[in-house]
Amino acid sequence: MKLTLTLESLGLWGAGKETFKASTVTFKAYVPAIGGEVLAISGPYIKGLIRGWTYRIAPLLIRNKIIKGKLVSECTSASTCGECIVCKVFGYSGGVYSPIKVSNFYAIDPKFISEIAEKGLETSLLTLPNPWYSVETGFITHIRIDDVTGKVAPGALFVVEIAPPGTTFYGEIELMENLIVDVDVDDARRLLLASISQLNQSYIGRRSRGRISVIEVEPQDIFKDDFCSEVFSSMRR
Ligand SMILES: [Zn+2]
Repeated sequence: MKLTLTLESLGLWGAGKETFKASTVTFKAYVPAIGGEVLAISGPYIKGLIRGWTYRIAPLLIRNKIIKGKLVSECTSASTCGECIVCKVFGYSGGVYSPIKVSNFYAIDPKFISEIAEKGLETSLLTLPNPWYSVETGFITHIRIDDVTGKVAPGALFVVEIAPPGTTFYGEIELMENLIVDVDVDDARRLLLASISQLNQSYIGRRSRGRISVIEVEPQDIFKDDFCSEVFSSMRR
């Protein structure tokens, strides 16, 4: 599945420590075709966001008989059970492979979307020098005021690096259906898609909103499924 994500607000990502010196920096990833780094959202981060939604969506889909599958209420991303439908589709610690592969999402110039989609992300990163958008990130300084003293709280001045609204990112999500065990492939597709579509209703970074759009989907037979094709049509670019 080939996707774009366009920021509708300032994009804030990065490791969580808001300390005086170590600012929250947006993630950058290396692009061989330019021999340098571009602004990106890390694949594991996006996968984690989607998985978080899957925990919330799966019970609804099961209750409404859209998918079948086992739930384990104690299962979380941090402490996976290995038994529930989320673990079977996303993988779990101690498991062999995760059936879902999520690439980094790279900041691009939107006019190259179809060229990247046609070549695929991996080839594009190696061979296309032009699509990668060197976004000027900005910095915002935050100060936290101590409630008691009314002064700046110690260590509470921190800087976050931000990506401007309108920045478009390109990435790919693959469901490796041959690795899915004990779950119906159609159910796995429905669950994944419904969860991805939730990113449009939620924050995708710290106070960041974005719009996920689907550029291309394989295999095409996924459109034979009414539920999937309805979800897709809501995510057309
Ligand atoms: Zn689980």
